[in-house]
Amino acid sequence: MIDYQKVLSEIMPRCKQSDRKGVVASYIPELANVSIDKFAMHLIDASKNTYAVGEATETFSIQSISKVLTLAQAFAILGSDIWKRVGVEPSGDPFNHLSLLEQENGIPRNPLINAGAIVVADILVSNLKNPKQDFLNFVRSLTDDPGINFNSAVANSEQRTGFRNYATANLLKSFGNLENDVATVLDFYFHQCAIPMSCSQLTKAFYPFMNQGKCLKNKTHLTQTQTKRVNSIMLTCGFYDEAGEFAFEVGLPGKSGVGGGIVALLPGKYCVATWSPGLNAKGNSKLGMEALEKLTTKTGQSIF
Ligand code: GLU
Repeated sequence: MIDYQKVLSEIMPRCKQSDRKGVVASYIPELANVSIDKFAMHLIDASKNTYAVGEATETFSIQSISKVLTLAQAFAILGSDIWKRVGVEPSGDPFNHLSLLEQENGIPRNPLINAGAIVVADILVSNLKNPKQDFLNFVRSLTDDPGINFNSAVANSEQRTGFRNYATANLLKSFGNLENDVATVLDFYFHQCAIPMSCSQLTKAFYPFMNQGKCLKNKTHLTQTQTKRVNSIMLTCGFYDEAGEFAFEVGLPGKSGVGGGIVALLPGKYCVATWSPGLNAKGNSKLGMEALEKLTTKTGQSIF
């Protein structure tokens, strides 16, 4: 049996000593205030044992990690009709790229780039009674934690500076792939990204993806097949234009966010989250990726 606590405890000092920690995201002004020295890992195994190092209960902005959670909720509501409005191919482009969207007539490559996530946000705005509150309740129910909330300062900060997202939403609207108005959809999108969560909360929220769609409380949120599909999208599209590199180095499906968080999972075995706010040139947490590479190499466990 693998001693995950020992493995995490060996990884943390090696990461913390690194003098190349990446750069904290500053294009959303509110994110720039986070210390680059933060570091955390949290792992929950299939039997619900937990293992942690560093600031694993301190919250940070989940940003793009939220795209998996909105996808799960929209997929559960619409079923496979969702794929009429968004594709499942990696884009090979940065998360906020626009030209592919124009070439491909407003159908985003996948739900984990901004354009795709904005379409998914539109689907939720159309299908939920109180969209923001209902999504928050969904995240609370996945995580079994009623304390999770939006951080309005972060949402407002992005609302003021998210010009590319406005451009993306307008392009989607011009192609007829946005049912609601741009401001309403982006208000939802900026709020979903602005949820603060800790590594400990994130591993719980993603537990269903390693447990065939069932959360910690054994409630079914996605079917087994839907879970397989979401995991495959995480593997091929979860790391911007570095998804290949993440699969190559780490070998797990996962998702990163510009707040420096990464969640990854080994189906049937564990779900793990890391937090280190410094990003590499592709926008993924530099030490988070290194820590996860060490985890799968040291344990000899990955999906491959
Ligand atoms: N809210 C961020 C944006 O749309 C999310 C980016 C990310 O984490 O990749 O720019």
